[in-house]
Order: sequence, then C-alpha cells, then structure tokens
Amino acid sequence: MRVPLIAGNWKMYKTAAEAEAFVLAFLPLVSGVRGVEIVLAPPYPSIGAVALLVRGSGIGVASQNVHYADEGAFTGEVSIRMLQEAGATHCIIGHSERRQYFAESDDAVNRKVRATLAAGLTPILCVGETDPEREGGKTFDVVGRQLAGGTKEIPASMGSRVVVAYEPVWAIGTGKTATPAQAQEVHAFLRGRLKELWGGAADAVRILYGGSVKPDNIAALMANEDIDGALVGGASLSPGSFAKIVTFH
Ligand code: PEP
Repeated sequence: MRVPLIAGNWKMYKTAAEAEAFVLAFLPLVSGVRGVEIVLAPPYPSIGAVALLVRGSGIGVASQNVHYADEGAFTGEVSIRMLQEAGATHCIIGHSERRQYFAESDDAVNRKVRATLAAGLTPILCVGETDPEREGGKTFDVVGRQLAGGTKEIPASMGSRVVVAYEPVWAIGTGKTATPAQAQEVHAFLRGRLKELWGGAADAVRILYGGSVKPDNIAALMANEDIDGALVGGASLSPGSFAKIVTFH
C-alpha cells in the first residue's frame, strides 16, 4: 500500500514572513487529515522557519534543489547537511525549470538523487516531456531517458525511498492538465521501467503527477492505479486551495 504524497512547490514565491503566514493558516485546515503525506517546498530562506512551524504535525519540508557535494567552493549553492540542519526532509530534484533555465543534466540530477539518498533525505525526482516532444511521439523516450539517468547506480535496496514526479512540461503553470488517462499511461510506463531496474521495490515507489493540479481535478487523477500523489505549483500557494487538494478524498 503506497501512502499518497502531495507536495506543494512554491518556486520563487513567498518571503519568509509570507511563508510563515501560509503555515499558520494552513495547519488548522489540515490538522485532521490522515493517510496522506503532505510536503511543503518553500524557497531556501524559509525552510528553517517552515520546518519549525510544522514540527510535530507530520508535514514534511522539501528544498527545491540541492548541491551534491558535501561542501566546497560552489558559490550560491546549498548542501544537504545545511538543508537537514534547517529541518528539510525531502528534496525536489531535476524540476523542468531547473533543467530548462539552469541547464541541469541527467548526470547532475543523478548525483543529487544519490547524495540525497545517502544522507537519508527523500528525493523527489522530476521527469517530463515538452510539448514538441509529446507531439513528436517522443514522450516515452524522453521520460525513460530521464528516469534511467536520474536513477543510475541506485540499488534496489534504496529504490523504494525514491519518489518520482511525472510533470509534463506543457502542463506546468499553463492550466493545461494531462487527462487522468494520459497521466496514468505514463505512470504505468515509469513503474514498468522501475520494475525492470529494482524488481518488487518498484511497487513501493510513489509516482506523483504534476502539471496544473487543482482542487477540481485532483480526485480524478488520484483515482488511477499508478498515480500516488501530486506535485503542485500554483495551487499550493494559497492555504485554502492546497488544503482542498490534500483533502481530495
Ligand atoms: C510545478 O511547479 O511542479 C507545477 C506542477 O506547477 P503548476 O501546478 O503550477 O502547474
């Protein structure tokens, strides 16, 4: 039985004060929620404050990126140990905006996933095709390559700790959601690939859908066998709409 995971990716929105105000409004809305793992991914400067405020609630805190080295001369970067000390439990890795605007390669993504697992944090590995790639019939090639690249050299014993997020780039922030059938088709493909790689451990891997998830489409997406949660951008910025999403059932 996979426990659904719903993560809110705030991207470069919310100052620390705004992040705190969000959490104070959000906590009472979800205090009775059971059977769903909730994760908030604020920008780096708010991770510590958010982690303190959610302490004891069961809500996880994710970074939106991480560096794979323990420490070093990497100006502008943040290490896993720094994130852990601030209270992070998860790391979003290889988001399409990182791949597109910061030239993140599958190799860098893989190093980050491995370093995160080694440190005991949960990586949320993002994969997804662009519009021209889908139109060109390349969806499975692209997500298959990104999945293989991101999971390279990760043994089956660690496999079940990886969370995968399928985020078709054409659906992110566009209001254009993949239909539940389109999403399920790709999720089933990804689970098949994970089975080839890790055998039975693949059954425990949560595969999240991301791309214009809203309170009114979450239930239809979650009704599918291989959709185990959501990575939510825009609709996670308001406590009310994100609370409606995490209470989808
Ligand atoms: C995202 O940022 O991962 C995302 C899916 O954004 P949105 O929900 O706004 O499409």
